[in-house]
Amino acid sequence: MTSAATAVAVRAFIGIGGNLGDARTTVEDALRRLALLPDTTLSAQSHLYRTAPVDAGGDDYVNAVAQLDTTLTPHALLAALQAIELAHGRERPYRNAPRTLDLDILLYGELQLADDVLTLPHPRMAQRAFVLVPLSEIAPDASIPGVGATRDLLVQVRDQAIDLLI
Ligand code: ATP
Ligand code: CA
Ligand code: CA
Repeated sequence: MTSAATAVAVRAFIGIGGNLGDARTTVEDALRRLALLPDTTLSAQSHLYRTAPVDAGGDDYVNAVAQLDTTLTPHALLAALQAIELAHGRERPYRNAPRTLDLDILLYGELQLADDVLTLPHPRMAQRAFVLVPLSEIAPDASIPGVGATRDLLVQVRDQAIDLLI
């Protein structure tokens, strides 16, 4: 007997940011590319936001969060995101350097994982308005495994300036 395995899609959230070149166009292109990933549906996307750099210099960032439903493994998803970053000429000269495009896996279902290349949930997402605000826009009931409900975390980042881009 043969049986075709039907993988159940996992809901993942991707943090998108850029502050080099035409960051708005870059973020919009990244969203289009996320929608084209194999075995993946782009099921929601936040508005774009403008934020000041955290722990770094350079221009303001354009940020957004995308919701994916995917059967890619977390590591395959990370590799796919890094390929999109590279297509936008991402370089990593030093930590927190300005970047054309940064794509982070914020949440991958309820998975908690830490290895050499991937930590889930993203370890710094709870401290970042540029993550929590767009995430809350598309998933107001989201929670971070091991941390708590995102709606309860927003108050801690209220001093970080973030403007809706229209
Ligand atoms: P931060 O992680 O604080 O947002 P960053 O995005 O600037 O910083 P990068 O230089 O883009 O950091 O990534 C460094 C490494 O982080 C990547 O090579 C990747 O292997 C690893 N990494 C670990 N967990 C994640 C994750 N959840 N999403 C994306 N990359 C991750
Ligand atoms: Ca990042
Ligand atoms: Ca990153």
